Amino acid sequence: MTDRIYNFNPGPATLPLPTLEEAREALVNYKGSGMSILEISHRSALFEEVLQSAIARVKRLLGLDDRYVVLFMQGGASLQFALVPMNLASDAAPVDYVDTGTWSTKAIKEARILGKNVRVVASSEDKEFTYIPENIPINTDAAYLHITSNNTIRGTQYRSFPYAGSVPLVSDMSSDIFSRVFDPAPFGLIYAGAQKNVGPAGVTLVIVRKDMLERTPANLPTMLKYTTHAEKNSLYNTPPCFAIYMVDLMLKWLEEDIGGLAKMEAINREKAALLYDYMDSQDFYRGTARPDSRSWMNVTFRLPSADLEKKFIDEAQKAGLGGLKGHRSVGGCRASIYNAMPIQGVRALVEFMKDFATRNG
Ligand SMILES: *Cc1c(COP(=O)(O)O)cnc(C)c1O
Repeated sequence: MTDRIYNFNPGPATLPLPTLEEAREALVNYKGSGMSILEISHRSALFEEVLQSAIARVKRLLGLDDRYVVLFMQGGASLQFALVPMNLASDAAPVDYVDTGTWSTKAIKEARILGKNVRVVASSEDKEFTYIPENIPINTDAAYLHITSNNTIRGTQYRSFPYAGSVPLVSDMSSDIFSRVFDPAPFGLIYAGAQKNVGPAGVTLVIVRKDMLERTPANLPTMLKYTTHAEKNSLYNTPPCFAIYMVDLMLKWLEEDIGGLAKMEAINREKAALLYDYMDSQDFYRGTARPDSRSWMNVTFRLPSADLEKKFIDEAQKAGLGGLKGHRSVGGCRASIYNAMPIQGVRALVEFMKDFATRNG
């Protein structure tokens, strides 16, 4: 542990040490097979066990019943921006989107490229995406309502999800899935690139309600159909085996070491409160998200000047606190405090912030 830093990178992001240590063993000889986890067949009983275990953990942790199918796909959350409208809006039905910045903007762009009837029903662009819109209008003729549950770049997050009635919710949960308890029932589809909160880059988790699969049009390319991956249990072609293995280990850690989603949520809430309470108690650092929309995963803030921000990021790095630079599109600073960031790391960051403010304020 001694030479590991507290890694606040937004993604790929920090992973729990026990997970990395177990993977290190598996890298040379997996379960006495004489082969690396990287070398076993995706059709072998050993891998089948990994896949089934990962699916079962996803279902247990999120409380998903048999109406939901868990898929492991490739192409990142970015490919899902296109697959969602391709698969779920086959007819002329309008598709509704809430625009809360970069990632939702990109999702909207892909639906438009596909010629869908896109309606942006709410947006926070008027205030540089610093908040989550309220009173989102629900149109009963929409094929779905798409939201981005946590806005990694802007540091905003839905505290509660819109009530959409019979309209299925679709959410990009790349940066906050497994961070808190929520009711999955209103969701027709959830997707998440694993590299923020569930594992390494290379695999995308897709949770789809079975009734949504009936919408997939026949004329899509095979690999772009959710039905292909659902029918073949994510084994239509070679899946990203190692990334799925890491997801299983990460979820094992969440279930067995942390003790489940409610415990994880309590820890995440406490970590976020440590940072926001400190920020609200002084005026050297200024949070950029509206307080009621603040993310528990990505804490975005500014210092009095860009020069001080650079100095802050550099000195923090030297103090063993890495990855605090804000996204290049918005500047400033950002502390990503996903599940695997221990509370000790957040405490160390707050102490460093206090010290830096005293020296530079
Ligand atoms: C990182 C991120 C993405 C992009 O994910 P890729 O896996 O790189 O395609 C999309 N949405 C959100 C919310 C993200 O945080």
